[in-house]
Amino acid sequence: MPVHLPIYLDNHATTPVDPRVFEAMKPYFVEKFGNAASRNHSFGWTAEEAVERARKQVAGLIGADAKEIVFTSGATEANNLALKGVIEAYGTRGNHIITQTTEHKGVLDTCRHLEKQGWRVTYVPVERDGRVDPEKVRAAITDQTLLISIMYANNEIGVIQPLREVGQIAKEAGVLFHSDAVQAVGKIPVDVEADGIDLLSLTAHKFYGPKGIGALYVRRRNPRVQLTAQMDGGGHERGMRSGTLNVPGIVGLGAAAALAKEEMASESARVAALRDRLKDRLLSQLDEVTINGSTGHRLPNNLSLSFAHVESESLLMALNDVALSSGSACTSATIEPSYVLKALGLSDEAAHSSVRFGIGRFNTEEEIDYIAGRVIEAVGKLRELSPVYEAR
Ligand SMILES: *Cc1c(COP(=O)(O)O)cnc(C)c1O
Repeated sequence: MPVHLPIYLDNHATTPVDPRVFEAMKPYFVEKFGNAASRNHSFGWTAEEAVERARKQVAGLIGADAKEIVFTSGATEANNLALKGVIEAYGTRGNHIITQTTEHKGVLDTCRHLEKQGWRVTYVPVERDGRVDPEKVRAAITDQTLLISIMYANNEIGVIQPLREVGQIAKEAGVLFHSDAVQAVGKIPVDVEADGIDLLSLTAHKFYGPKGIGALYVRRRNPRVQLTAQMDGGGHERGMRSGTLNVPGIVGLGAAAALAKEEMASESARVAALRDRLKDRLLSQLDEVTINGSTGHRLPNNLSLSFAHVESESLLMALNDVALSSGSACTSATIEPSYVLKALGLSDEAAHSSVRFGIGRFNTEEEIDYIAGRVIEAVGKLRELSPVYEAR
């Protein structure tokens, strides 16, 4: 089968909407357009029914109760609501949050904002494999600590954090536990009970749902978590997030969750096999390639590699028919090495030679073979131009 170009291999950034999800959403734009808060007619009831079905589907994917799901515009909003909402609700009891250095900006920038307001934040460093040491998290707890926020899996290197261990430590200390689980939800089993999670952020567009819709899980018992709303208005979502519900988006999130739950086991095995095929090809045919982050505790769809003596920006330019991400981030004027890779102890040079491969539901073996061939060819050519590589 010939491959269709360009090939999308950046599924940590976003995923396409699954056509089955799109079909489920369609009736809720034109025909069933009602406001889920309209109590006096069938248009409202139809919309509300769809929202409550989706709430169950989302809850079912993470082992929660439907009443514990608060719909938001995505994970950035869910992270903001979790951190700011907890600090404001419990601020008379303490003033301290613990997080770690490779969190998504949605958590890190929220923490910076809270620090500017006078709250205290500890950023626990990660080990060389990208995981936090749960004992270092325990050691950071003080009698002022209100919340621990540790991501489930990282969006650049796919490393899965020791969630259960941290959840246990939080519980023993009587501290609330939040997890940004965006990259894990729908890809690996996530269970808020087993993992001891009190608050969890997720977003539809990372698991084949639409953009602009997500949710915050908020535990209702053992303990019942209090949150101060960050959006005031009509008192939607049990007062935690006002604003007319995005009904088609919510239907899409629910459908994506139901599909993920049903197909997770077979899909993750298939995607992991594609990832391993790509990894084996690249590592066997190229020298001086290193894997970034833990290989044992890793999402099935992630491969993060450093190609020594190759600038990833040049590599991605050479691979113009494949969508990939580099280990660099463009800020206003300069290209900065990824703070995630730096946190693992990589040099600037190694971070600038890193590429993230994010495999997804719709990638095929033919695409993987095509990409492997293109990467091997392009790395070879770029290294021919590198005096350092030639002089080894
Ligand atoms: C994409 C992503 C987010 C942001 O989600 P949005 O819904 O796009 O705001 C947060 N955390 C992680 C780990 C992500 O990968």
